[in-house]
Amino acid sequence: MNQAKNVASTTDSDIVVMKFGGSSVADNNKLKNVASRVIDHYDAGKKVVVVVSAQGDTTDDLLEKAAQVNPNPSKREMDVLLSTGEQISMSLLAMTLENMGKNAVSITGWQAGIKTEDKYSNARIISIDVSRIMQELNNNKIVIVAGFQGINSIGDITTLGRGGSDTTAVALACELKAEFCEIYTDVDGVYTTDPRIVPNAKKLTDISYDEMLELASLGANVLHNRSVELAMKYNLPIKVLSSFERISGTIVKEMNQVEKLVVRGVARDNNTSRISVIGVPDEPGEAFQIFDTLAKANINVDLIIQSVGQNHSKNVSFTVAKSDRAEAIKLLEPMVEKLGALKVNYNDDVSKVSIVGAGMVANCGVAAAAFKALSDASINIKMIATSEIKISVLVDEKDGEGAVKALHNAFIEE
Ligand code: ASP
Ligand code: MG
Repeated sequence: MNQAKNVASTTDSDIVVMKFGGSSVADNNKLKNVASRVIDHYDAGKKVVVVVSAQGDTTDDLLEKAAQVNPNPSKREMDVLLSTGEQISMSLLAMTLENMGKNAVSITGWQAGIKTEDKYSNARIISIDVSRIMQELNNNKIVIVAGFQGINSIGDITTLGRGGSDTTAVALACELKAEFCEIYTDVDGVYTTDPRIVPNAKKLTDISYDEMLELASLGANVLHNRSVELAMKYNLPIKVLSSFERISGTIVKEMNQVEKLVVRGVARDNNTSRISVIGVPDEPGEAFQIFDTLAKANINVDLIIQSVGQNHSKNVSFTVAKSDRAEAIKLLEPMVEKLGALKVNYNDDVSKVSIVGAGMVANCGVAAAAFKALSDASINIKMIATSEIKISVLVDEKDGEGAVKALHNAFIEE
């Protein structure tokens, strides 16, 4: 999206964008519930744009159906298939609203003017032509847009990556200069950690874009990463709300004030594997060769450590998403000889556990306190990485929950 920065907090727009996730539109009763939430805004005089995900497990079911006819379908056809899930929800919601006496119209991503990159399955939005949406809104229609999809330069359907409906909603809200974007889901906000692991995790009233980005990419699983990046760029507040309970949720917004809580969230990511290249010669260019090979294959590398060279040899370890591990090993094994290394090994049974908080920048001793909490819980740390607002550790998968509990207990519970 290449439009000038829109300071949404000062906009006098009466447009609101509401997004409902798959569990919120899963059946007819839930659709009725969604319709009533939409009508609340509409009857209060707002122009309402609604973005929907596919119902329940539809996307997973479609993936499964595809696998039955072809274990290796082209990404183009996969996008054609997956985009249908959102079209079912959008039309059913429009019909539900019609049945409740409201004027609604459902449109696909391409009808909504959402242009994306040419690549399939994980395309980024490049631009949005909102004229069709504006025309419908000006005719007092409730506009329902299929999430997670767009159209590329040759007119093919593309999808935005799993969880991408959030990004559709935020991108539309930015382009429409909406007052705010509401993301309705089956949880009632962003919590300090996963309440299934720590039952007394607290709901945060607000969280900064930076913190949310770290949590989103660390496996907190509440918002699609790109939606938070976009909201930050356009300074658009996102409200994370429950579809089912009418209670206040969490606002993701710009926050200048440093909070009294240094650590605001603890995230766990089990979708990670550790790879090590053992016995790499202690010479310039070795790390470059390893990471350049992975970068060229579009494999994202996360935590990296390199041991100090000893006897002209060192070890390079890093983490990748579990789904990329096999390909990474396939690329690195044949390189062992060329690198002059001894071998490559990996471990899939690891968890990355992270503490996040904008207040960490100004506080010393956070790392020491984190390591103490883990040591008191007898949890061994395999790797450590830090940024200004985050400390991540890699632990055995079996220790992941214990690490979350120990860190939450040390920093958040009083
Ligand atoms: N239906 C898609 C998915 O399951 C997109 C979304 O729900 O945001 O990933
Ligand atoms: Mg989601």
